[in-house]
Amino acid sequence: MRTAVPSLVAFLLALSSSASADTIVLKNGRRIVAERVSEDGTHVIYQTSAGQMSIPKAIVARVEHDDFLYSPATDLSVGPVSAPQVEPVRGYEDIAARAVHGNSVDYAYIAQLETEARSGSAMAIASLSAADHAAAQFLLSKGEVDAAIRQYRQALVFAPENIGLLLNLAVLYLRKSQFTAALDPLEHARRIAPDSADVAKLTGWAYYGAGKMNKAIEAWTRAERLRSDPEVEQALAKAQRDKSEEESYREGETAHFNLKYYGGATPDLAREILRALEDDFRDLESQLDYTPPDSVSVILYTQQAFLDITRAPGWVGALNDGRLRIPVQGLTHVTPELARVLKHELTHSFVGQKSHYRAPTWLQEGVAQWMEGHRSSANAGALINAAGQGMVPPLGALNGPWMGLSNDEAGLSYAWSLAVVEAIIDSGSVTDISRLVDQIARTPSTEAALKQSLHMSYEDLTQQTMAYLKRAYLR
Ligand SMILES: [Zn+2]
Repeated sequence: MRTAVPSLVAFLLALSSSASADTIVLKNGRRIVAERVSEDGTHVIYQTSAGQMSIPKAIVARVEHDDFLYSPATDLSVGPVSAPQVEPVRGYEDIAARAVHGNSVDYAYIAQLETEARSGSAMAIASLSAADHAAAQFLLSKGEVDAAIRQYRQALVFAPENIGLLLNLAVLYLRKSQFTAALDPLEHARRIAPDSADVAKLTGWAYYGAGKMNKAIEAWTRAERLRSDPEVEQALAKAQRDKSEEESYREGETAHFNLKYYGGATPDLAREILRALEDDFRDLESQLDYTPPDSVSVILYTQQAFLDITRAPGWVGALNDGRLRIPVQGLTHVTPELARVLKHELTHSFVGQKSHYRAPTWLQEGVAQWMEGHRSSANAGALINAAGQGMVPPLGALNGPWMGLSNDEAGLSYAWSLAVVEAIIDSGSVTDISRLVDQIARTPSTEAALKQSLHMSYEDLTQQTMAYLKRAYLR
């Protein structure tokens, strides 16, 4: 998320001054973080990074001041619906205990089961499936998602019709945002078990993630018919809202993006944005050594669209909830400010997906700011002073969502996160960021990942950042 917060210098000069970022809470529960909120007779007016917007007062519940909202990319790991519980087979515990022991997978035991399974005995195949499932779940608990996927794929070679294995494999793809890949085991599962509500539920998730609303609605409607489920009911309602709102939108598509925009936005602007995003994509691909598996959805807002949408609640507010939602009010071409917003938001998608949505917030925001071209020059002195007064938050406190932070704290957190990322890159290269993000994807804690990839603790990182700020900016 790219939220305008007061500069750190302003924060240190006027600790008690009132904050300029507010949260507009709509009657439908949605929250919009904005700057300089004001109102006239009929509308609430506010500033965004892309210009002024307004919404009818009738849909606003209240405006909260001095509140900072952050919608973390980590929310995505949950998905629109949860994964079904797959019943383990009888005797599963015994086999699991033989497949995984001493904190590692016993591949010799699994190989032996594979040999027995080649005889075609149903019993032997069931045992192998159970062992593979146990091994995959163990690998998953270690953060080894790719290894877990390989284990399920190997298991399916012997038991291609095992619904439990197919569903577990699909869930792993969904968690990695590989929606197209997830459809493969799901379509297979549907042929075997056409009446499985779980299969329909996950299929809806895959289509929803891929931005195919009609198919998501179809799958979730089927899931609801097969078994009533409040989660599916909610997801279905949201997909229906998204669909009706997006019907009036035009589309543009490039190699890595699908863009939706309201008819009122100029096609020239849409094309320019897609061009800018493709450039950003190539740049981030090489800097972060990662390619998102599926195309990234982008939605452009205009004033008119904004009003239409608020009539049907669904997706007012957030800027990157898996789809880039960019306000372009009043713009006819890509301004330098809009270019920075695009790069910043796209960086969140890369870091989120590459880390399997486990990157801590300080790293997400630090890297996104760095990639958009922001540097610490203006804040270095103030950060050094703040650190001297013990006011810089420990990194561990900036891991999770920044929801509870005041506006001033958020300003400091953004500035400090950028400085930390800048210092990491300065002491090596941007490859260090890429390696750190990879390690985070497969390590239980960020600190452990930091130790393994950069051989540093949070304390070391803090020292390094302070030394860097002094060296680079205080002369
Ligand atoms: Zn951000």
